Amino acid sequence: MSRPVITILNRGGIGAPQTESNLGNDAYSAPCTVALIEYNTDTGKKGMLVDTSCSADWPKIKYEIEKRCGLENITHVLITHWDQDHAQNLRELPQRICVSGAGTARIGTPDYGNTASLYSDLEIETPDVKAQPISQAHSRDDTLFIVNSENMGKVIFLGDLIFVPMKEFPTSQLVNFDTFFSINPMKKYLTFKKILSDHPDVNAFVVGHSGTILSKEDFEKEIRAMEEGAYKEFLEKYISDLEKNVKEYSAVLK
Ligand SMILES: [Zn+2]
Repeated sequence: MSRPVITILNRGGIGAPQTESNLGNDAYSAPCTVALIEYNTDTGKKGMLVDTSCSADWPKIKYEIEKRCGLENITHVLITHWDQDHAQNLRELPQRICVSGAGTARIGTPDYGNTASLYSDLEIETPDVKAQPISQAHSRDDTLFIVNSENMGKVIFLGDLIFVPMKEFPTSQLVNFDTFFSINPMKKYLTFKKILSDHPDVNAFVVGHSGTILSKEDFEKEIRAMEEGAYKEFLEKYISDLEKNVKEYSAVLK
């Protein structure tokens, strides 16, 4: 049986006012990268979605799915993390198996379509698609998806661990982004190093927004850029703030 085929359905972006959207005119949203993984089964071609983007994007994503395996053949939704811009369209995919690291209070709420079929143990029946949990780096429940594909080789979906590459987004802005949105930037850096050692044979890294696909060399550049300049200063400040906190909290217990 041939391996799965990956198509990027929605490139996404880093945030723009949406006109004529069902969020209302000029509502601000950050459409995310959405990919379709088509795979063969005994009963024909099926599909898995990686992330769903925000509701303003749904008509376009639905159209792209219908052109390929068809919405009724989507069996799984793989969620990289539970931010609104990645999970909003789960409501459009009831009864599908949702695979993601769990822990957020939003699961089972109307926000995400009361997803009952959540595989938080990250088991996926197809051996060419695997999930790996990464907790507390970008969000509480980051999950990597690793796909051994026919058309792109071994691919890792990073979600917002890299939301856009540094060459598209200056480091100074990334520092601002990670200050607000990453739970632990040091853990993010260590996670990137671990990804390389765990998966030396990966040829493509898909980022959370902009649909950019990084080569292994590009991914290594992202890591090196965290070891110098403004990002290194940011990590040093993060560590020194942690040390200050430990001192302050330890003093309370004395
Ligand atoms: Zn995002």
